[in-house]
Amino acid sequence: MPQQRNRVDQSSQGRLRDVFNSTGHRLTAQRECVLQLFQELGDGHHLTAEEVHDRLRKAGQSVALATVYRSLKLLVEIGLLEEVEWREGMRRYELRHNHGVEHHHLICMRCGVTEEFVSEVLNGAAADVARHRRFKLVEVRLTLHGLCRSCRERSDQSG
Ligand SMILES: [Zn+2]
Ligand SMILES: [Zn+2]
Repeated sequence: MPQQRNRVDQSSQGRLRDVFNSTGHRLTAQRECVLQLFQELGDGHHLTAEEVHDRLRKAGQSVALATVYRSLKLLVEIGLLEEVEWREGMRRYELRHNHGVEHHHLICMRCGVTEEFVSEVLNGAAADVARHRRFKLVEVRLTLHGLCRSCRERSDQSG
């Protein structure tokens, strides 16, 4: 059984290498580390570059913060990760979903909690707008900024 798992891992690494090669980039150990972190966490995790750096450090991987920044940027460029504009100048990164449904984000301006939602109504409206303006729609990403439930409750209590 361990052999079989190893084989699967090698072929997925091969595919990954193909993705990199086809875009003219090299799959370095650091880039792979960064991507692997997201793959292990799975869908629905949104991390800043600092958080990625921190988690890698705690896992015993020494990747410089500048390298983490560059790796994230590249992984977005070749379509393996997605970028969420969190606040002005602040970005979070997540695994690119493969199931083809656009999802959107609710972001708490106080504690930073990020929730995902899917809305067919919203995606349909975006498609209508694009059609009317003869715009070829590539992606729809909506970010709602506000206060999450627990932050609201906390501020209600303090008056
Ligand atoms: Zn997301
Ligand atoms: Zn909050």
